[in-house]
Amino acid sequence: MGTIADSSLWERARRVLPGGVSSPVRSFRSVGGEPFFSDHGEGAFLYDISGRRYVDYVLSWGPLILGHAHPEVVEAVERAAGSGLTFGTPAPAEVELAELLVELVPSVEMVRFVSSGTEATMSAVRLARGATGRDRILKFDGCYHGHADSFLVKAGSGVATLGLPDSPGVPSALSALTSSVPFNDLEAVESVFGRFPGEIAAVIVEPVMGNVGLIEPAEGFLSGLRELTRAQGSLLVFDEVMTGFRVALGGAQERYGVDPDLTTLGKVVGGGLPVAALGGRRAIMEQLAPTGPVYQAGTLSGNPLGMAAGLAQLRVLERDRPHERLESLTGELVDGIVRAATERGLPVSGVHVGSMWGVFFTEGPVTDYAGAKQTDTEFFSTYFRECLKRGVFFAPSPFEAGFMSTAHRREHVEMTLNAVGESMDAALEG
Ligand SMILES: *Cc1c(COP(=O)(O)O)cnc(C)c1O
Repeated sequence: MGTIADSSLWERARRVLPGGVSSPVRSFRSVGGEPFFSDHGEGAFLYDISGRRYVDYVLSWGPLILGHAHPEVVEAVERAAGSGLTFGTPAPAEVELAELLVELVPSVEMVRFVSSGTEATMSAVRLARGATGRDRILKFDGCYHGHADSFLVKAGSGVATLGLPDSPGVPSALSALTSSVPFNDLEAVESVFGRFPGEIAAVIVEPVMGNVGLIEPAEGFLSGLRELTRAQGSLLVFDEVMTGFRVALGGAQERYGVDPDLTTLGKVVGGGLPVAALGGRRAIMEQLAPTGPVYQAGTLSGNPLGMAAGLAQLRVLERDRPHERLESLTGELVDGIVRAATERGLPVSGVHVGSMWGVFFTEGPVTDYAGAKQTDTEFFSTYFRECLKRGVFFAPSPFEAGFMSTAHRREHVEMTLNAVGESMDAALEG
């Protein structure tokens, strides 16, 4: 019964939505099979429209660090909704959330709210260009900074998953201003600075790469970027849309002790609603209109529902300090998957940073995008589908990080590891 409902809905979806989806990786295109349609989520579980449940390690691609439908977040949104959905004037909640971000994220002194991570990084780069009077930017191969024109050069996430070349529709005049070099390679960064002296407005980086699977920064890489950008008069932008509030309460900048000039936040900051932000030092942030000349605006920016959800989620994190427990449970999951693969003679490399995690089916350590691409994508696809059959929802791509929420317990991890072992056996037989 469920399958019939699923496929007719999937047919309807493909008739009216390109690929049947509102965002490419949701289509399961790279792993085969059809995506399930979600009915509701509860804690660590997602339930599809035929009542099957999945232990969820996608968690809406990162935002749900407290799991699905956390009562305090839901209640805050319901309360806010009762008072009106949007005002188009300043409202107290955006001041409160901005103050909380300034308190929690070490380098942030002022904040501008936007509605998606894409908007945050796009605006951060415009601000960096406006503040420095320079046009070029430098990024890293496989880092994903949303889908704005300047970033679709050797990008991660869906671009990597679908094996797409740099996107048509991006004017070459614009992409020519973006240089991309391997992650963890300071010499390559230096050589781009050597080629374009005084021209690079910003270096933008995911301080922990999470959009080609998970890749950690090598010792000294982030501090090296800090020194180089400072010496060259470029701004350092940490895209913490994924790492923010996840790898530590204050994000990667707290964990690694490196302060960027600008920070972009998204995902966790909105508690599951479309909220993102850019923040940084006062002198740079005040270059934004209306105090400065760099234009940026949004009809629904600082939306009261989003502010309420973000505040509620971050206050729970601040009160409960779950990061150590989350990190150790995430470690148990990754260690278990690596052990299961090793016992079966599969090449494997797994890492976790806070509650972000990733497993590559290749001999590690993986330090950059080229290394990530060595993962066995064919094995992954079968393994993914076998896990899904057994009620475990991993990201439907070998090039995405996994997540863990505070609603996940050891019993869920144990269920998952049983399914993982069986799924590996099935994938090896098939
Ligand atoms: C998800 C993500 C984005 C894009 O955010 P959207 O809200 O999907 O536009 C940007 N940067 C990083 C690091 C991300 O993980």
